Amino acid sequence: MNAQPHYPWQEAHWAYCEQRARTGTLPHALLIRGQRGLGKLDFAHRFAAWLLCDRPGEAACGSCHGCRMFLAGNHPDYLETAIEEDSHQIKIEQIRALNYFIGLSRHCGHHKIALIADPHTMNRNAANSLLKTLEEPPPFSLLLLVSSRPALLPATIVSRCQHITFSIPPTDAALTWLKRQAPDADTLLALARGAPLAALELSHGHLLETRRKAFRDFARVAAALESPIIAAERWHQHMPDPLTGWLLSWLTDIAKLRSNDTFNRLNNPDIDQDLRVLTERIDFGCLFALYDKALQVRRLQQGSLNQQLMLEEILYAWAGAFGNSR
Ligand SMILES: [Zn+2]
Repeated sequence: MNAQPHYPWQEAHWAYCEQRARTGTLPHALLIRGQRGLGKLDFAHRFAAWLLCDRPGEAACGSCHGCRMFLAGNHPDYLETAIEEDSHQIKIEQIRALNYFIGLSRHCGHHKIALIADPHTMNRNAANSLLKTLEEPPPFSLLLLVSSRPALLPATIVSRCQHITFSIPPTDAALTWLKRQAPDADTLLALARGAPLAALELSHGHLLETRRKAFRDFARVAAALESPIIAAERWHQHMPDPLTGWLLSWLTDIAKLRSNDTFNRLNNPDIDQDLRVLTERIDFGCLFALYDKALQVRRLQQGSLNQQLMLEEILYAWAGAFGNSR
């Protein structure tokens, strides 16, 4: 088990939870909320492991009987519920199993802990079933709900949990950590909108390289060195899901540069110079229509024929914004 109990930006949350546990004042349900990429689930795992450890220090010891069972995935006082592979929601059967589990007596004298990942995917019946446990929690039970979309949870559930809210950490702190994990930390963090673990995830695979290729197409269309129709076809065939997000972020950066907005950091600091060149040449009046079209593409199904047509339309309009007519 990692000796580090939490990521650096989770310091205050950890101290709070630890303090509540040590003074025996933990609530029966914690809703750990915040956007993706901040390590909420990891935090919940580590906290559960720490609570179930027989010799907890700063973190769970990793070697006692409780830790060994936890690490092996068979601790009798711990249950984790998440969306199953064949599904896109947490089913009522899973919540019934959780209710049954949490009602059983403890094996090891600590807590009885149930963690629910993505509880916002429960349907109404599942949520109602969970509500019964939240209304009458058995002694020593602890529910950990980990959600990146808490607004989708029923108010009846939200109001019965104590909230731990994870926010985007200060840029300096996030960068210090990220630089130790991956090259191109500035770019990655900007692309992940400040969420360090989402940034780290971006560094895996070839996303950054793919993004550079997509931007090269974009710049070549502006310079009339590439046909919009060929670029659109290539984007449609080879580009991953984040493409429309990139497109929107390039357009946003051009708008920022155009209005001399120096307060907000660019989303794409690594291509700052290329974006400046485009900003000087673009017919600014076209920018908002382009942004609108990019938003429309994002709503279309990935890989659909409409999406390719829409990408063509955008790239034609983009070429037009630089005076390159059809
Ligand atoms: Zn231990």
